[in-house]
Amino acid sequence: MKQVVSICCKAGPYENAKLALESLDLSAIKGKSVLIKPNNGRAALPEQGINTHPQAVEAVIHVLKKAGALRIAVGESPIVGVDTMKAFERSGIVEIAERNQIELVDLNQGQPVKKNIPGFRILESTKICSAVMDFDIILSLPVAKTHMHTGVTLGIKNMKGCLYRHEKVRYHQLEYEKSRVFPEKTLDSAISDLAEILMPDLTVVDGYIGMEGLGPSGGEAIKSDFAVASWNPMGADIFAIKMMGLDHQKIPHLALIAQRQQIPFRFEDYDIVGPNAADYKLHITDYKEPPTSISMEYPNIMIYDCESCSACQSTVMLFLKRYYEDMMSFLLDDGKFHLAIGKNVTDSIKKGTILVGNCTKKFADLGIFVPGCPPVSTRIYESVTGREPEENEPECK
Ligand code: SF4
Repeated sequence: MKQVVSICCKAGPYENAKLALESLDLSAIKGKSVLIKPNNGRAALPEQGINTHPQAVEAVIHVLKKAGALRIAVGESPIVGVDTMKAFERSGIVEIAERNQIELVDLNQGQPVKKNIPGFRILESTKICSAVMDFDIILSLPVAKTHMHTGVTLGIKNMKGCLYRHEKVRYHQLEYEKSRVFPEKTLDSAISDLAEILMPDLTVVDGYIGMEGLGPSGGEAIKSDFAVASWNPMGADIFAIKMMGLDHQKIPHLALIAQRQQIPFRFEDYDIVGPNAADYKLHITDYKEPPTSISMEYPNIMIYDCESCSACQSTVMLFLKRYYEDMMSFLLDDGKFHLAIGKNVTDSIKKGTILVGNCTKKFADLGIFVPGCPPVSTRIYESVTGREPEENEPECK
């Protein structure tokens, strides 16, 4: 029997999520405990397209209550350096939780649970937040975003926010830790390993205001006004990608998971329901894909990238996104701003290069060394300019 995916468009964040979810058979919810896992990894406002919209969260709470859920909670383990409750507060989730008398769970509390991954590709085991184990059903409620390292971040990748504290950063540092065995990026291998032990039971993708380009935090907000829901996490993700105007076949972690777990990966493998079932093929937005080359995006930037992790790459991308213009006052005599990242940087770098991350420390006397593994972009700014940036928010991973 075909799996079901439901789609609702152009009805606003609350109605989209409500109608998409209500269009599914929710009889399995009755009497169960449900953890709603939004994407609330950063302290950001709803209009920034970084976190799941609070009205989508409220809609899901209302539908779950009506379906007879015994216990409903909203939980998150944000990126390292972000306080969970402050992130919930800024995104509007605290207000929603109070109004609906729903518990908020800081997933970082308590001890992690180490889970072995049978048949792993790169991760023998991983550390999951213990609170995640307390629920019968995990409902992934991501916001639709492109992602500079994984193409998109949707319901399946949102499970990375159930990893305990610094464990999330480890997924970005595997390039450094592991030798290459498989053709895909190590981050994609790692996400597919996580999916072997932790997949959403139910997914609602909030596409009201998403993020395009340099996601997950440095891109542009884009209003696309849709929601997709499914009990099949792959179905939810591939149809959300369709609504974003992108090609799910080009998203390596999803292709890999579909292959490893034998999950249908074609549109025709799913039955479409919901208010917009008939016209799902008319995708409503063209999200800009993430940039593939930093140098093409930013002229006058010379990057020595010698086997860096995606963690340091993210830092450099965010740094340039935020401070590129400021750095034009710090060009070397060849008219370029020089940066080096990665464990195999050599002394061939130009004198005056900005050396980003602990891996580059051995050449600290050749330029300006910025410590950290990885450092944050504000720290690079401070090291180069000698002053604090105006905006000083915590960063990604
Ligand atoms: S400094 Fe950067 S490249 Fe080196 S291990 Fe840390 S994150 Fe990876």
